[in-house]
Amino acid sequence: MSIVLVPVGKVDPAELRPLREFLGGIFSADVKVAGRVPLPAAALNPGRGQYDAEVVLESLPSSGEAAGADRALEVAGVDLYLPGMNFVFGIADRKKALISLLRLRQSFYGLPEDAEVFRRRTVVEAVHELGHTFGLAHCEDSRCVMHFSNTIADTDRKGPGFCPSCRSRLAAGETRPGQRQGRKD
Ligand SMILES: [Zn+2]
Ligand SMILES: [Zn+2]
Repeated sequence: MSIVLVPVGKVDPAELRPLREFLGGIFSADVKVAGRVPLPAAALNPGRGQYDAEVVLESLPSSGEAAGADRALEVAGVDLYLPGMNFVFGIADRKKALISLLRLRQSFYGLPEDAEVFRRRTVVEAVHELGHTFGLAHCEDSRCVMHFSNTIADTDRKGPGFCPSCRSRLAAGETRPGQRQGRKD
């Protein structure tokens, strides 16, 4: 199993470090970081100042480092939305996923920056979206990483871990590509 992290647009490589450290253990995967890809200009909605998450995800090159991996996780620094939604923390579609780091920062909420909180949120959102790519749906257990995050408080309530039910489904090798998750997280 291999997971490739793909920075999209301007992303500090240091901010990918927690993902490199933790995703491998969680998914029993080899984790690599690919060269960064540009944010597609067509994804920008100038009126909203946000990028359409689907357009960003679909623009991931079908050749190159990401194509050779079992899963690709794009990491963006800009704000993402889907039509009909104010914002999304991330989305997943079959074998690829996308998260935004913007709303994981305390500074986004007018609070002093907290590196530990930021790292934890980054891992939680990455595991959640990758969980979808392994076929896991949203879970009713509010402590499970697959619980739906409507706000950052939901993200903070859950940890990066799977509940026993989700963990056993993951371990059972139900690794069919996930359904498209056009949801807020
Ligand atoms: Zn669960
Ligand atoms: Zn979700």
